[in-house]
Amino acid sequence: MAKHPSGLEELPLGIDLLHDPALNKGTAFTAAERKALGLEGLLPPIISSQQQQVQHIMNNVRRKPSNLEKYLYLIGLQDRNEQLFYKTLIEHLEELSPIIYTPTVGLACQEYSKVFRRPRGIFITKHHRGHIRSILRNWPHKEVRILVVTDGERILGLGDLGSNGMGIPVGKLSLYTACAGIAPNACLPVMIDVGTGNKGLWSDPEYIGLPEERLQGEEYDALLDEFMEAASKTFPHVMIQFEDFGNKNAFRLLDRYRDRYCMFDDDIQGTAGVALAGLYSALCMTGGKMTDQKLVFLGAGEAALGIGNLVVTSMINQGLSENEARGRCWFVDSQGLVVESRTDLVQHKSRFAHDFPFHRDLFSAVNAIKPTAIIGASGQSGAFTPEILQAMAKWNERPIVFALSNPTSRSECSAQDAYSHTNGHAVFASGSPFPPVVINGQNFIPGQANNVYIFPGVGLGVLASESTRVTDEMFSVAAACVAKKATTEDLELGRIFPSLSRIREVSLHIATTVARLAFARRLTAMKEPSDLPGFIKSKMYSPVYQTDPRVETVA
Ligand code: NAD
Repeated sequence: MAKHPSGLEELPLGIDLLHDPALNKGTAFTAAERKALGLEGLLPPIISSQQQQVQHIMNNVRRKPSNLEKYLYLIGLQDRNEQLFYKTLIEHLEELSPIIYTPTVGLACQEYSKVFRRPRGIFITKHHRGHIRSILRNWPHKEVRILVVTDGERILGLGDLGSNGMGIPVGKLSLYTACAGIAPNACLPVMIDVGTGNKGLWSDPEYIGLPEERLQGEEYDALLDEFMEAASKTFPHVMIQFEDFGNKNAFRLLDRYRDRYCMFDDDIQGTAGVALAGLYSALCMTGGKMTDQKLVFLGAGEAALGIGNLVVTSMINQGLSENEARGRCWFVDSQGLVVESRTDLVQHKSRFAHDFPFHRDLFSAVNAIKPTAIIGASGQSGAFTPEILQAMAKWNERPIVFALSNPTSRSECSAQDAYSHTNGHAVFASGSPFPPVVINGQNFIPGQANNVYIFPGVGLGVLASESTRVTDEMFSVAAACVAKKATTEDLELGRIFPSLSRIREVSLHIATTVARLAFARRLTAMKEPSDLPGFIKSKMYSPVYQTDPRVETVA
């Protein structure tokens, strides 16, 4: 008897089969399947190929009047026909990832209570304390290997959205499946609703979360501790990805759990990986050496400090001492330049505080430091002013300008600004996508420093090797893999990341390198397969329809 992908139930028949998103093929069920599986009369007579269905879906997506409508249509498809959803997403990733993930997912989260139709994932609250394990056991799929969890406090650059932030784990896991072939039933989105500091939501009668103050302190930690323990026991070999936690919890929880569980924080480590990949590629264009760079970060939160720490690791690997490497990374936060004379610095920032005069604003700070690269992760729209960009172009033949803040409306500068104020010389990347730009007749395709280049591949490598930990070194090697995959043609167009259409190839390359590292560092009890890339590839989910296994036996 063939098993359902969940590993539990028997395969359904008739209308139940059409209502099962993992198995439904809609009008692509063949005549033999319709006859054998009780589907005759339940579908219109037409029999389509999966490719025709993909085309039909794309026609419908393109007809939708807004990106939010496109998002809702695609989520509806995911709920009806998972294989078709993923086939369409994989084939049109460049067009659809900004819908399924940032920036549209940000809009969807802001409207989540209104657009909420059916649950996908697990909602845990403080009222579940003491029996979180039994809550997790309510999830129908038993073979979960990746869990993406948020408490909704810092959704993209949009702030505290409470339970409405559930769109983020859902979207991230869709990308795991599309970009690295992690089977959908191995993915579990989790929202830990501990209340929300967004009081506007308390008075919203449509809000789906707990309209109360956020849990904090020991009670918060106890809830998280129980969750980590329960998740790791319920789902053996699970990897847990933290996503969009508030600044004060994200670093703390990463420090608390990274040596106890197989977990990482994508905002800190994944972002660091993709930005480091971008820097490696940028240096191929500028011809500079990593150890000669001077970087000024705008923002000193999860993203910026995560990148700074990984850059330091990379510079140390290339011969600098830790002090020398830290001396090349400068931070400007909401209070000004991070320097030793400041008394308000938390530990994560103070490691980058230099013995240097204080500068209140970015312009005077960059004037004093004269960096080779400016990296924005502050959520401050327009912070890279024309004066700053022009000054960068004066000091550097090819200034590196990364405006990473999301969504597009929060970007520190647009692609157009970056190129036009540097006379087309900037090496530019952004967090959210920007359309191509033409300057002086030259075409530029801005690179998107999308974490999707990193986390799916790292996750696939961790899962395939059954690694018990996710290490910074894995993100460092993943960055080098991504940079290696950007072609000369990509770089000539200014695109410092490989085309998203090649993401599964990139993810497989990262996964193989990460898994190899897990074996070399003895992070797994598994024996290394002789053909590691072949082994990993064989584990990747493919959403291509197969003939229903019951047809031969029943027909
Ligand atoms: P965070 O809340 O941890 O950090 C924000 C930082 O910005 C804080 O250090 C804060 O002091 C600083 N800041 C706020 N106002 C400022 C001002 N006026 N001047 C200078 N600094 C100011 O958030 P985060 O997780 O670090 O994310 C920051 C931004 O980066 C967000 O917009 C997020 O969407 C984006 N991001 C992009 C990527 C990517 O491109 N792949 C990945 C992660 C995060």
